[in-house]
Amino acid sequence: MSETDPATWLISAGRKREPGEPLNVAPEFASNFYLPSHRLYSRVEGTTTSNALEDLLGGLEGGRALSFASGMAAVSVVLHRLPAGSHVAVPDDPYHGVAGLIDEGEAQGRWTVSRLDQSDTSVWLEALQTCDLVWLESPANPLITVADLPTICGAPRKEGCLVAVDSTFATPLNQKPLDYGADVVMHSATKFIGGHSDLLAGVVITRDDDLYDEFYHRRLLYGASIGGMEAFLTLRGARTLSLRVERAQENAMILAERLEQHAEVSTVRYPGLPSHQTHEVAKSFMTGFGAMMSFDTTGDGARASAACEAANLVHHATSLGGIESTMERRAVIEGQEGMPPTLIRFSVGCENVEDIWADLDQALTSTK
Ligand SMILES: *Cc1c(COP(=O)(O)O)cnc(C)c1O
Repeated sequence: MSETDPATWLISAGRKREPGEPLNVAPEFASNFYLPSHRLYSRVEGTTTSNALEDLLGGLEGGRALSFASGMAAVSVVLHRLPAGSHVAVPDDPYHGVAGLIDEGEAQGRWTVSRLDQSDTSVWLEALQTCDLVWLESPANPLITVADLPTICGAPRKEGCLVAVDSTFATPLNQKPLDYGADVVMHSATKFIGGHSDLLAGVVITRDDDLYDEFYHRRLLYGASIGGMEAFLTLRGARTLSLRVERAQENAMILAERLEQHAEVSTVRYPGLPSHQTHEVAKSFMTGFGAMMSFDTTGDGARASAACEAANLVHHATSLGGIESTMERRAVIEGQEGMPPTLIRFSVGCENVEDIWADLDQALTSTK
């Protein structure tokens, strides 16, 4: 992509541009292809639709992309390349699916694990000297902690240490892990990239051709390839990523400031707020603070749940990154038992900000 603006790239890339071809890449539904051809079977090579999606996302991050049936499928190919006996560093509060895979591999004796605080850069710099995989997730779910990615990804590391960044919350628009020196960037495209809460998809992107080949091979072995319809919907959603992120993070900043002043809210965690633990770090390299935040209501967990249920415009649902605002109480989600009981994770959407605010305010005030 190099000199093209990301917003322009999102709209213009991944198209055929041949006379008589449709402007948009159509969903290609195929398992097998007529021979002889370079294409045999879509679990291996993908489809024209998934290939177009890969061109689009690879260009955006500055590497070569591989699409997957879900974010977790993408995570799996990165983790499962590790030989037995490897040492892995992960955040102490990673996405619960990632935590589950890490815990399972540890219990099986596949790898040993260091669980590190992402706000403490020094422990990560040490991990780079001893680990075979350093897995960062920034901003991290659900305390919205931002790691100092340029410092960590760019630091010296032991031979063979792979650095991977789950950049789902940031989107490809707010940070560029490969530019900082990471080997792999991963996204759950289910979230902001797809953007409409109607699909599951994942992607890994790398500049290293050997790694790309390895992930490609593992994807076909695991059967983790994306379907034609999902690839089409993800591509369709990605066209408007820049518009949606711009609007959602503008809304998020306004709402975070107001929630911080709200009598029924005790803590707001949003990297755009000067009060956030990792605000200075986020400001130093991110081009936007994203649309994810979490906050605690006053009172107990039941009260926080009541506030989620009292919302009308804001949807009471898990997941994130949709064009519609969603919120949920994390402590009731499986695998998140250690959460503050009153923590509500809030994915800010693209509705009119005054309408979102009015709904939040009534949900918080009516349940106090
Ligand atoms: C959702 C999510 C995943 C997993 O992605 P799926 O598409 O649900 O499989 C991984 N990391 C983060 C940060 C996520 O939000």
